Amino acid sequence: MSLHLGLDVGGTNLKWAVVERESLEPRLVKTGLLPTDTRGGEESVVRQLIEVARAVFGDIDGVESVGVGMPGVLDPAAGVTRFIPNIPGNWDGVQVTDAIARGVEAPCHLINDARAFALAEHGLGAGRGATSMLGITLGTGVGGGLILDGRLHLGYQGTAGEFGHQTIVPDGPPCGCGNRGCLETFARAGAIAAASGQPDVEGAVAAARAGDPRAQQAFRDAGRYLGIGVSNVVVLVGVDRVVLGGGVAAAGELLLGPIREELQRRVHVTDVTRIEVVCGELGIWAGAIGAALHSSPVRLHAPHPDPLP
Ligand SMILES: [Zn+2]
Repeated sequence: MSLHLGLDVGGTNLKWAVVERESLEPRLVKTGLLPTDTRGGEESVVRQLIEVARAVFGDIDGVESVGVGMPGVLDPAAGVTRFIPNIPGNWDGVQVTDAIARGVEAPCHLINDARAFALAEHGLGAGRGATSMLGITLGTGVGGGLILDGRLHLGYQGTAGEFGHQTIVPDGPPCGCGNRGCLETFARAGAIAAASGQPDVEGAVAAARAGDPRAQQAFRDAGRYLGIGVSNVVVLVGVDRVVLGGGVAAAGELLLGPIREELQRRVHVTDVTRIEVVCGELGIWAGAIGAALHSSPVRLHAPHPDPLP
């Protein structure tokens, strides 16, 4: 048995998952969820991560490693957070992995939550069997992760896959990252809700499905911008599957349809009918599952070995 624990930390909840990856097909063994303890800022969050990891290691025999998925800007190689807007605390320069590794006496690795989503959906979910996959997380922000030739592509300092921060409209609205006109400014939950005239994106989905023309237009517009962004990725790196996750993905065909139309319109360097654009299958557990997979030394679907150090 090769068991790995993944911890997925959000501003509201902390989710965990234990994944077994002895065989070629990884398997989900157990999951759990509890409210994130943000009362003491970053200190109480890290303390809670150690406590949860210890509890799981105590309950389940043979867990070998821990992965931690977090939203925001991280230095994954150093196990250090840089900027996390959605979890209370001062996260600049917080060492997360060392204390957890000491607490459970097992290796611990850090990964951006959208990269973890992509890894999970490719290993156990809607991306199974894809050669190269783009994962997109749609929520408060717009994140992403790239699987290239069967492997998660981390790029320089783990920053590859920031799908939401590509410029989609020159001189468009300001983005939280410092740029203007990022895809995120048009496709994040708050932007779609505002364009729909609804208090939140759940209301926007309900209104669009009930036939409200303003809400339907808001999803067509967001889907069009997403489709342009996906088309750019497709022509650049050649993905054969696109998997949408996060709360806004509950809109389903309201977004998938316009994305597919935009792909048909803009991509002429490859056969777009072979590119599948689908919603994720792992729901709220994707981040924790991906963090667990990331912590495992086994790299499945790998066409070539890890490069020598
Ligand atoms: Zn941005």
